[in-house]
Amino acid sequence: MDGGMKPTVAPVLILLGPPGAGKGTQARMLEETYGLIQLSTGDLLRAAVAAGTPAGKQAKAVMEAGDLVSDEIVIATLRDRLMEDDCAKGVILDGFPRTIVQAAALDALLSDTGQRINAAISLEVEDAAMVARISGRFSCGGCGEGYHDSFKPTAKPGICDHCGSTEMKRRADDNAETVAQRLEAYHAQTAPLIDYYETKGALSRVPAMGAIDDIAAQLHDVVSQATA
Ligand code: ADP
Ligand code: ZN
Repeated sequence: MDGGMKPTVAPVLILLGPPGAGKGTQARMLEETYGLIQLSTGDLLRAAVAAGTPAGKQAKAVMEAGDLVSDEIVIATLRDRLMEDDCAKGVILDGFPRTIVQAAALDALLSDTGQRINAAISLEVEDAAMVARISGRFSCGGCGEGYHDSFKPTAKPGICDHCGSTEMKRRADDNAETVAQRLEAYHAQTAPLIDYYETKGALSRVPAMGAIDDIAAQLHDVVSQATA
């Protein structure tokens, strides 16, 4: 490179881990710290369901059952969002890819735009704890901040610490039965991605059973190295 200048290609980070691993919580923190855009296919699909789009209509029952939405729908949804201008700052993918087919589609998309994956970070947790984490969680309808009945309650009951909204939401698929199916789908279809990214030399593992801030600190180390 001329004069030690580095090419300024926007970073691409992937968060891997089962439902309840804390991908969304950590992605929001990284978004603030690094000025990246969090892309959650779960959020995009829930928005499509709420808006009643054709994709949303197909996804609704599948999501309620805890199964994976078809690769076709998810890839198209992600691709559309990735093309929007703000994503040029760099992205944190949360909940995508979730299958080998999606991972290959992402590789193709990125090679089209001259980008690469800086890091695929696996949040390492124990399944047994995930049901409790998910069953107690809720989020603010105003700003999207995530909370948990026991692990991260609001300071004042029913009022968001960040924006003061009193509109709290619980997801339809956050019940014990659906969680079990989501964990099964994770192990069958998504866990193989850990090997996929390890083979590419892009994988980092972060223990994620501890406190939210400790995990954030470890992620910070990995991300600053990967984007340096
Ligand atoms: P969690 O990771 O806690 O299960 P998400 O919000 O990421 O929650 O996903 C919720 C649901 O949305 C999944 O159970 C699945 O039905 C669907 N979904 C989200 N992302 C994908 C994806 N990449 N591929 C297939 N289905 C997806
Ligand atoms: Zn809020």
